[in-house]
Amino acid sequence: MSSSTAGLDMISVDPRRVADLQENLAEVQARVDKAANGRPVTLVAVSKYMPPSDLQLLYSSPHRQLHFGENYLQELLHKSSLLPADIHWHFQGALQTNKCKNLASQIRNLWSVETVDTVKKADALEKGRRSVLEGKGEVGEEGKKWARLRVYVQVNTSGEESKSGVEPPEAHALCRHIHNSCPSLTLSGLMTIGSRSNSLSSSEENPDFKTLVSVRDQISKELGVELGLSMGMSSDFEEAIRMGSTNVRVGSLLFGKRKTKEEMDELKKRTAETEKAR
Ligand SMILES: *Cc1c(COP(=O)(O)O)cnc(C)c1O
Repeated sequence: MSSSTAGLDMISVDPRRVADLQENLAEVQARVDKAANGRPVTLVAVSKYMPPSDLQLLYSSPHRQLHFGENYLQELLHKSSLLPADIHWHFQGALQTNKCKNLASQIRNLWSVETVDTVKKADALEKGRRSVLEGKGEVGEEGKKWARLRVYVQVNTSGEESKSGVEPPEAHALCRHIHNSCPSLTLSGLMTIGSRSNSLSSSEENPDFKTLVSVRDQISKELGVELGLSMGMSSDFEEAIRMGSTNVRVGSLLFGKRKTKEEMDELKKRTAETEKAR
């Protein structure tokens, strides 16, 4: 075993954690399969803040989880350097234009970027991936064997100011731009996070999902391409699948409750201070 994977040695892993994670995955995958009713739907295990050992466990479990979603570039770079090269990484966090180039050019097994919401970010991803495909990136000639990068356009379907994403009517122009002017990217579809209240009210079909389906149908027709839908999380993935989702993002149902961003930042700060004091 190389030194970089030594930290993932199973001996250090709590056997109860192994059982819990395997059980959670079996249950969620069964629920996905039932809702999908034979249609292909990708289950993305959203692993932000979770230790690499948890991801390794799901990857090596009988269900062999291959798709993982991460929200932060540093965390993704760290985990992708430790974990198996055939994992399919999804970037699902808030995207910053100045990080797009690195994101597109440093991780060979980055499967998709699901949070593209401006032409600038699309262009920056295009630039990063194009340099790799032309053999001019950090990975050199090797880059010519990389694939085009899949991207989803994030749509703000709920109109909440706190949510990123383009307004539904603006999604057309951004999708057209990616489709026509970004040859190193592949437009995979549309993504929404949706509002919490829309997800929790059980009265009728989730209006966020309805909006995303309708915008996708229009754009798909306009561009003449098949487009997927990244929608549905722990609280609503079955409904999302029934409404046509092709990519569900499930975190807490698989890994258990996670720390908030504030708690994580505090933890990192304290760890850094302890290391400095040593
Ligand atoms: C964290 C996160 C999820 C997972 O949410 P859960 O409710 O824990 O399933 C899904 N999508 C995005 C974009 C996220 O940031």
